[in-house]
Amino acid sequence: MRMPDGQAAGQRVADRPVRLDDYRAVVPASTLDLLRRLADRVRGRSLVHINSTRVGGGVAELLQRYVPLLEELGVTTRWDVVRGTEEFFRVTKSFHNALQGQSQSFTDAMLRTYLETNQENARRLNLDADVVLIHDPQPAALIASANPKADGTRRGRWVWRCHIDASRPQRRAWTFLQQFVTQYDAAIFSLPKFAQRLPIPQYLIYPSIDPLSEKNRDLTPEEISATLQRLGVPQDKPILLQVSRFDHFKDPLGVITAYRLLKKHDDCRLVLAGGSAEDDPEGAQVLAEVLTARNDDPDIHVLVLPPTAHREINALQRAATVIIQKSTREGFGLTVAEGMWKGKPVIGGFAGGITVQIIWGVTGYTVNSAEGCAFRIRRLLHNPDEAAQMGRNAREYVREQFLITRDLAEHLALMVTLLR
Ligand code: UDP
Repeated sequence: MRMPDGQAAGQRVADRPVRLDDYRAVVPASTLDLLRRLADRVRGRSLVHINSTRVGGGVAELLQRYVPLLEELGVTTRWDVVRGTEEFFRVTKSFHNALQGQSQSFTDAMLRTYLETNQENARRLNLDADVVLIHDPQPAALIASANPKADGTRRGRWVWRCHIDASRPQRRAWTFLQQFVTQYDAAIFSLPKFAQRLPIPQYLIYPSIDPLSEKNRDLTPEEISATLQRLGVPQDKPILLQVSRFDHFKDPLGVITAYRLLKKHDDCRLVLAGGSAEDDPEGAQVLAEVLTARNDDPDIHVLVLPPTAHREINALQRAATVIIQKSTREGFGLTVAEGMWKGKPVIGGFAGGITVQIIWGVTGYTVNSAEGCAFRIRRLLHNPDEAAQMGRNAREYVREQFLITRDLAEHLALMVTLLR
């Protein structure tokens, strides 16, 4: 489970914070110009983002970068997180799983915990802004306790952004959540197929990565080898890498099966890198299953990294020969864009946002089984020129589609629409 609270690290270039102009060297020039033109339309307006964690997971990664960039664009931006007990986060994890289609049972006490925690947070948080952007199910019920004005309207426009695959949610969970979602002025989903039958406008915005963050900035070959050495991963044979929370939906056991099939023919290493699972009973269990499946194979490296290990993940992705994201269910799967940005072909499960990031046979392959995964990795290992070309295609595709500047431009366009 992602820990609530913590410190967000600002990105720096040559000892000063990253500024918008630094992106000129990396992103299409037209995107930056559009961003500034849209910002002119909402300059001086305020925006508050609320999610449930400062570190860990794709949403926190994005928010860390949205805030300073929006500020530089003249939008007064705050970011706060809901606080809750362990029980609250157990309940919201059940919501997360149920919305992604897993069968979960919800008792009245669980729903009460969820509502009361949201009520407490609504009292504590400053939700006064022109636009209030609420991320994911954990804080979704804040809207029910956010004081309307005397005439019943709210000052700000409220938007619910759903980052998970809620296309086939468990009915009870969705029915419960829907009573809050319908109170919003708009909802944002990450893929068209995640959209729901709702009486409010729905928008599609792909998430993104920040090319200048510590996770994605260029690294020198020396930085890469020093980091891998520190992590105990020799660079003596091809490296296959999956970076993921230890979660069944990310299918780490399927990755190990694929590696074993491949290993009968081709020598390679497998690195499974994920976050610490101490506070997440489910994560700890999946990690234990992974360690059992590893079965003392010295070529399988299971790395449990702290949530601040951005440079380590960057170096691993750059050292990898093939990047895997074999999820069976996925929200967007930002690790795919991260791998593609490093010029690597990516093999991903046919799930969620992975299907829009991987163009089959052009930037990588989507697969539906461990056998398919092993087959595609083998093909890439034996055709290095094809793999390199795919990596180049992948990087260009991310440049066009999945960088933070495009994402921010779409958010600003939505603000313009909502505040018109
Ligand atoms: N990540 C990380 N450390 C880990 C596992 C993941 O920093 O141990 C990062 C990863 O690089 C990516 C994000 O967390 O930026 C995961 O986003 P994604 O959309 O792939 O999956 P989510 O965890 O949000 O389901």
